Amino acid sequence: PLDPARVRMYVCGPTVYDFAHIGNARPVIVFDVLFRLLRHIYGESHVTYVRNITDVDDKINARAAERGIPIRELTEETYKNFKSDIEALGCLPPTVEPRATEHIDEMKALIERLVAAGHAYVAEGHVLFDVPSMADYGKLSSRPLDEMIAGARVEVAPYKRSPTDFVLWKPSKPAEPGWPSPCCIKSPGRPGWHIECSAMAWKHLGETFDIHGGGIDLVFPHHENEIAQSRCAFHTGVMANYWLHNGFLQVEGEKMSKSLGNFVTINELRENWLGYAWPGEALRFNMLRTYYRQPIDWTFDGLDESHKTLWDWYGYLDADKTNTEVPPSIIAALSDDLNTPALIAELHNLRRKNEAPKLRAALYFLGFSCKRKDIQRRAVGVEVHPPTVVSKASPHAPTIVARPLSKAEIEALIAARTAARARKDFKESDRIRDELAAMGVVLKDSKDGTNWEIAR
Ligand code: AMP
Ligand code: ZN
Repeated sequence: PLDPARVRMYVCGPTVYDFAHIGNARPVIVFDVLFRLLRHIYGESHVTYVRNITDVDDKINARAAERGIPIRELTEETYKNFKSDIEALGCLPPTVEPRATEHIDEMKALIERLVAAGHAYVAEGHVLFDVPSMADYGKLSSRPLDEMIAGARVEVAPYKRSPTDFVLWKPSKPAEPGWPSPCCIKSPGRPGWHIECSAMAWKHLGETFDIHGGGIDLVFPHHENEIAQSRCAFHTGVMANYWLHNGFLQVEGEKMSKSLGNFVTINELRENWLGYAWPGEALRFNMLRTYYRQPIDWTFDGLDESHKTLWDWYGYLDADKTNTEVPPSIIAALSDDLNTPALIAELHNLRRKNEAPKLRAALYFLGFSCKRKDIQRRAVGVEVHPPTVVSKASPHAPTIVARPLSKAEIEALIAARTAARARKDFKESDRIRDELAAMGVVLKDSKDGTNWEIAR
């Protein structure tokens, strides 16, 4: 770290206008694992992790208008759903979760600095970044100029001096959210997307910091433009010392898209994907089986296998509750550029070598609850997805192959059910009874307590 006593990391967060999809879950999980690793190495209070919320954006305006609700209502609702989803994925909250709309002053200050330094100019109510004014623009993505011009083509506007120039501030129409503009522009306006991240990173991490992350799609133009803004405003050689980008996620071999109908939200997966309500921890585990920089092919079979592995491990761990330290082999695997496939091979080793306390310590450290009840998978019954996806998923009905429960495990479950009944949590007591029934254990309640027998 630049400051030996404080590791600083910024990761681009969601634009809050709709449910997050499982592709969006990938950076959240990958950088959560990195956050946990850094906290382990440097100490919990020595790591600052900033993940922003983009709550001003044209997609948000359009969706709010479409639904006929105020923008604020849409962004709040979406943020709440996002929070609930990522909690279910076992992710820690970041140290700071700044919102773009709360950092307009910082954005304006940055824009004014850029104009004063000759790196930005005002044109027709817009402020634009003057790309040719930065000699080494484009270093991160190392794209040739003609490709960048082609990439910027969609945004070609007569007021741009160069086609690669990008918007820092733009005018707002009366129905759009707007703030008093910088640079003596009279009409109200709103920020461009890239300046939001430069401003929030500056406010919470300073002019330069250690790690910047996000999905691979953000390298160009988003991260390239963040770098241009921050470096030119502060006259620094770098914005962040390390850039980490996760690969993309595709579903059953195809790009995830609304038109293909294989677009899966985290929420949907938790409620019903291909006939099952999947626990967030299975999604988390499945994500970590692929090295973060590689693309992931998200399949029913992969998720099913991940779920079965966790089910086996959690059941096994029930027997031994001894505490221990996170094994060094786990830290070593992660320290090798977040090598999660090596990490998972190591977890399998611990299971094979019958090292229950070490396996549990490793799983806790990685954000897994180790509670079987948290990874119950419910059959929802109806397959709601289009046949293109269903036909490629496994044709067999997935089943959880559970090992037989020990007497002690059965009795522990019965005790948990009795406790749930005592506090009138009948949903939970029924769930436990069903779980036992699924494993062939029949309960008989009487006034003297609960007896059980193995169903024949
Ligand atoms: P967005 O809300 O579209 O700005 O995306 C939020 C984060 O999710 C960014 O870091 C994106 O790079 C990432 N992301 C979006 N789609 C995918 C995908 N299919 N696979 C992996 N990451 C993605
Ligand atoms: Zn960003």
